[in-house]
Amino acid sequence: MAMGVDVTIRGAGIFGLSIAWVLLRKGATVRVVDPHGPGAGSSGGIVGALAPHVPEAWNAKKAFQLDSLLMAEAFWTGVAATGGSDPGYLRSGRLQPLADARAVELARERAVGAAALWQGRAVWEVVEAVDPDWHPLSPTGLHVRDTLTARLHPGQACAALVAAISARGGTVVGEAGDEGAVIHATGAAGLQVLNTAFGRTVGTGVKGQAALLRLDRRAAPQLFCDGVHVVPHGDGTVAVGSTSERDFDDPAQVDGQLDAVIAKARAAVPALRDAEVIRRWAGVRPRARSRAPLLGPWPGRPGHFIANGGFKIGFGMAPKVAHVMAELVLDGKDAVPEGFRTDEALG
Ligand SMILES: Cc1cc2nc3c(=O)[nH]c(=O)nc-3n(C[C@H](O)[C@H](O)[C@H](O)COP(=O)(O)OP(=O)(O)OC[C@H]3O[C@@H](n4cnc5c(N)ncnc54)[C@H](O)[C@@H]3O)c2cc1C
Repeated sequence: MAMGVDVTIRGAGIFGLSIAWVLLRKGATVRVVDPHGPGAGSSGGIVGALAPHVPEAWNAKKAFQLDSLLMAEAFWTGVAATGGSDPGYLRSGRLQPLADARAVELARERAVGAAALWQGRAVWEVVEAVDPDWHPLSPTGLHVRDTLTARLHPGQACAALVAAISARGGTVVGEAGDEGAVIHATGAAGLQVLNTAFGRTVGTGVKGQAALLRLDRRAAPQLFCDGVHVVPHGDGTVAVGSTSERDFDDPAQVDGQLDAVIAKARAAVPALRDAEVIRRWAGVRPRARSRAPLLGPWPGRPGHFIANGGFKIGFGMAPKVAHVMAELVLDGKDAVPEGFRTDEALG
């Protein structure tokens, strides 16, 4: 048996790799095990919107996500500096068109909410469109602009984490036995395992499809219009997504539902009209019953832990999830908020 592994992490998606990175920074020795390789699950995608919840009706999930979004810049800068590989992070901000007077009024109320809740570290404001080629069509001529939203490139982010983990002496392998504490960060497949183990529906997979278009808007703000995320990446591409499918036969198949998403994006954003689609992608998001992350010890299995349920915002949640899990496993410090806890969901 190999000597000296403090923590084995099963699953090399964004949760498993981010936890490995923080554990290594805290001085632990770590091995990540994934038979399908890094980014083989829903983390190997193309969208990568790190977008906040609306600043109102505050709760533990929104506070946790705000912390994570505010941690992201330092987190990804550290990953890039250590491994020498670019995760494609940029705090680009985001624009959302306002359809009518009611939406404008609501957006202004939320601006007041953001001023109180976002600790002066980002703004949410109503602005006029200034770039007719990029800004989505808006019946009122107005948009919400927030300065908290960021982006990363999911596939690049996984590769950057693997590089940083390796540079710190961690390993990412296809097969190995358990050694030390074990963290199960196994995404939608892991939720199925929990469903069987606990004899109830702990969570399910929700399929999503997204597309990548060739268009260089690398410094432009992200857009959210007509339910579609439009995310410019640093490599001269723009991602549009996503579908949300509870019932599906083939998790990897792309179909006409994605054409509808692309058509909506083209209708809303003039610059996308003639942009070539260069990639279509589908993945299965891990959705816990609560729709929140599922974090903590595996009840009845000493030394085993669960980090799952990233659902639609796994990339946005990853920095804070990684810190909370690393503290729990290494130091026994339990800062998992209510609504995320395995003892509530599985106890
Ligand atoms: C179309 C689409 C668009 C999305 N857009 C965004 C977005 O814009 N912003 C955002 O924040 N999130 C987004 N998400 C959600 C995000 O991708 C997920 O929340 C996130 O990838 C979940 O990460 P994970 O590490 O928990 O799971 P996964 O990435 O699925 O990783 C789980 C890993 O576990 C491995 N595994 C499974 N079983 C085992 C086992 N027994 N042993 C070892 N390894 C195992 C798998 O091979 C896999 O690599 C999107 C998802 C989809 C599908």
